[in-house]
Amino acid sequence: MTHSPMHEDCQTFRFGTWQWCVDTAEELIRDDPSAATLVAEGDISGLGKLLPFHPDPPGVVPLIRVHVDIDYAMTTDLSKPIIAARLVSEAGEDCGVVVVDGWHRVFRALWEGRVHLPTYLLSNETERACRIPIFI
Ligand SMILES: [Zn+2]
Repeated sequence: MTHSPMHEDCQTFRFGTWQWCVDTAEELIRDDPSAATLVAEGDISGLGKLLPFHPDPPGVVPLIRVHVDIDYAMTTDLSKPIIAARLVSEAGEDCGVVVVDGWHRVFRALWEGRVHLPTYLLSNETERACRIPIFI
């Protein structure tokens, strides 16, 4: 399977100044078991603040807000692992773990009171292989 250089037909996810090709991530995980670590009970409890559960207070514009289609979220399969990556800045600073794919599953799980989902944590090499440069 080949990619267009600009990933026009790919499912992508953008988070701040980072962006990834989800199709590439799924292909790498499928082809190479060492591309990611499967965490059976990944902790998603801290992710609710990025999701539209509550109206924002007047005058508050959240820095990062992940868009979800709530009707679609409720149809998702929570047994399918979400995909997450640990971000390391160019200076080597640990920027935490970000969900690259599966935000609708995260929304449904939190809505149903669950705080864990099966999660593929990408290796650093896989994360970099999936990353798409953003040209501003
Ligand atoms: Zn792609």
